[in-house]
Amino acid sequence: MKYYATGKQIVYPPDYKTKVMFLRKSQEWIDRKIAEGILESAYSFTAGGGFLVFNVESHEELIKHLIDFPMYCLSEFKVEPMVSFNQNAEIIINEFKKLGVYHDGWARTRVYHVAYTPELKEICLFFWGCNIECRGCYCKRRVYSPMLKDFLGKHVEEPSGIAPAPEKFLTIDELLAILDQYEFTSVVFEGQEAAMDPELPNIARLLHERYKSHNLLLTNGIELPDLSHIDRVEVGIKAVTDELNIDYTGVSNKPVLDNLRKLVQSGKNTFVESVYIPGYIEVDEIERIAEFIAGVKKDMLFVILPYFKAGDNPWRRPTTEEMEKAAEAARKHLKNVFFFRGNEELKYEVFSAFPEGAGGASYEPNLNALLSSVGMK
Ligand code: SF4
Repeated sequence: MKYYATGKQIVYPPDYKTKVMFLRKSQEWIDRKIAEGILESAYSFTAGGGFLVFNVESHEELIKHLIDFPMYCLSEFKVEPMVSFNQNAEIIINEFKKLGVYHDGWARTRVYHVAYTPELKEICLFFWGCNIECRGCYCKRRVYSPMLKDFLGKHVEEPSGIAPAPEKFLTIDELLAILDQYEFTSVVFEGQEAAMDPELPNIARLLHERYKSHNLLLTNGIELPDLSHIDRVEVGIKAVTDELNIDYTGVSNKPVLDNLRKLVQSGKNTFVESVYIPGYIEVDEIERIAEFIAGVKKDMLFVILPYFKAGDNPWRRPTTEEMEKAAEAARKHLKNVFFFRGNEELKYEVFSAFPEGAGGASYEPNLNALLSSVGMK
């Protein structure tokens, strides 16, 4: 527990020698307590007085140390327990919740981008934040949907560098106000790791209740959120060879493989997606992933994606022939294999519903839905 003790000197020694003695003793005391881990920091106000931040178990322990401080007998102290600002904000908000004056729509989500495909009646929600750091993470290259107008044809380019992170995140109210303007039947949770957003279960519930949408979660499978309102889950398996997985993601694949088994056992509609990276996550590894999936559920869908350069990585994208070979290897173990060759044309136009106009195209929202959302229809 942290305590903040602020003091104001009220007694002044009569001579300079005694003043210096108090100051020297106090400096030594502070150095000693910091070295012991009891004191975190100590500051003086230039106009006199100062404060000490303690890290102790209890108020009693704090008092025991504070009265030992050489300047204590010359000062008047005020003590306050401290928690981090975020912790305190949560404590206060929880109190508001208990009082019934909190509105759920005020909660801030990690959604930074909403993409809409009218022909498919599909919304894609992009979430920011991940619990791992994949070397080939596509968000290093682009944070907005790669299907927006400004990016068409550019996916085959091989840029380096890192795309800037998003800055604006929607509250639940803001998200619903945007969604109310569009007609959709399915929602995909993607971007980085949607499962990291504490609001995800709430968003999924609201989508079910308000729009009756079919909700698909794309996840790295490391930590599964509450899936009550998720209809389908796509787990990204980077590699089943753990050394390779650790090299690519920095962590073991054990929780991912365990969670895939759990999802299947729970009866959740689940499929797997993997990325083929020539010279790194090679055909033999794709085959090992397929073999693992077959051991979990023989008829599970396995989607193989081609790698496109992201970040400052040395790998190239695969050729169409290489993608076919990877799929062929996977089909030795699974019947249900789907793969992209990497040269597919986009069939449907995709628009950015948020941020408005991102990606070079805007969409005329459904006027009737918009009017009814503001109570005018
Ligand atoms: S799990 Fe997905 S979002 Fe997270 S770092 Fe890897 S590729 Fe990026």
